[in-house]
Amino acid sequence: TTRLAPSFDENITAAPSRRSTDGLVEISGVSKSYGPHEVLHDIDLTIEPGEVVALLGPSGSGKSTLLRAINHLESVDRGSVTIDGQYIGYERRGDKLYELHEKEVLKRRTQVGMVFQNFNLFPHLTAIENIVEAPIALGRLSKTDARELALGLLARVGLSDKADHYPRQLSGGQQQRVAIARALALKPKVLLFDEPTSALDPELVGEVLAVIGELTKLGTTLVIVTHEIGFAREVADRVVFLDGGRVLEQGTPARVLLHPQHPRTQDFLRKVL
Ligand code: ADP
Ligand code: MG
Repeated sequence: TTRLAPSFDENITAAPSRRSTDGLVEISGVSKSYGPHEVLHDIDLTIEPGEVVALLGPSGSGKSTLLRAINHLESVDRGSVTIDGQYIGYERRGDKLYELHEKEVLKRRTQVGMVFQNFNLFPHLTAIENIVEAPIALGRLSKTDARELALGLLARVGLSDKADHYPRQLSGGQQQRVAIARALALKPKVLLFDEPTSALDPELVGEVLAVIGELTKLGTTLVIVTHEIGFAREVADRVVFLDGGRVLEQGTPARVLLHPQHPRTQDFLRKVL
């Protein structure tokens, strides 16, 4: 049974994109509330193929909710998110959107890779098992091919010698690098990082940022929530500053980080720098 998406009930038509050309990630008029608390307010954001976007903002400003809305881990109350022109949670029929079955949602969600603050590796699987799990489960690759791919990815994140280690046998930095390799294994169109170094001891931050930095050089489309302002300045094409669920300002790192226009951006940067 398909049913009309809640946000498009009562004959409300799907929100048309407000731009004439669509980006890889198209966030259009997105609002989301938890009870009376509006966490995202009418967000418009377009992420172009190959673009690296740093999402900055104080705690509680809606950064994680926005990332989770991109891969439909959160549904939104209003507006739409598409990846390469496709909804993850919905199907358009005529001018209406219908909710998709969970299986189809899971399949479409693989277009978006996500790396979390707390690594979220499967504790009972080794590094390489963590990486091959999804490609095999989804029927994308044979066990042999998945293993070959995983070994290549482990080499890319500098962990060739840790393939058979369990997460508990790895440092936080190593676990996070495995998590990045795992995200890459599904060849996502866009990678989302939610404070990937916030849970790490300071001496382990650099190795994870180095791996992410390498990805940015390869033309990976990437959105990163981070308080590492120096890193954002180095790798981001664009910095987006979120506050109270609104995009307060955005622009090049040089513009937003060195010459913030909004008092709240200035205040935030004073605190984190
Ligand atoms: P950030 O990642 O910028 O710190 P979040 O997106 O995690 O912010 O949260 C934004 C706001 O939404 C916060 O006030 C938070 O308490 C609230 N929030 C997040 N998730 C939920 C939830 N599942 N239920 C209720 N409130 C939530
Ligand atoms: Mg967060």
